[in-house]
Amino acid sequence: MEIADELYREVILDHYRSPRHHGKMEKPDILEWGKNPLCGDELELYLTFNDGKVSDVKFDGKGCSISQASASMMTEAVAGKTIEEVQKILADFKGMMIDGKPSDELSEDLDDVKSLEGVKKYPARIKCALLSWNTMLEAVKKYEKKRAA
Ligand code: ZN
Repeated sequence: MEIADELYREVILDHYRSPRHHGKMEKPDILEWGKNPLCGDELELYLTFNDGKVSDVKFDGKGCSISQASASMMTEAVAGKTIEEVQKILADFKGMMIDGKPSDELSEDLDDVKSLEGVKKYPARIKCALLSWNTMLEAVKKYEKKRAA
């Protein structure tokens, strides 16, 4: 168990120190903001879509290592995916963090994301881990409204 903890921490720290898809975007199709007041985490999520797929994604913000690392992992997980795939990924992640879905039921390309399961031992930090995923969920809703209009 302690070895697993160590691995979790390493993956999380790696994403925190070298965040993927980090930065702002000039002309996003969707810009969504997220906040976790409990911890002071803030997030800006920029997305462009093409043909029903996430063609580009970037995030910016500030906050604790878990919120930032989780955002890096989330953007990596959704980049290039269709809306339907994104919705499945978001549901799987929430299932793991909230409903106790075992991480090994998640798809293999979510391997880094699975490291966030370790955060469940610290209930106060679960909202940090969820922030970017909830923000993505809102962004997808916005996009679908836009697409339907
Ligand atoms: Zn936090």
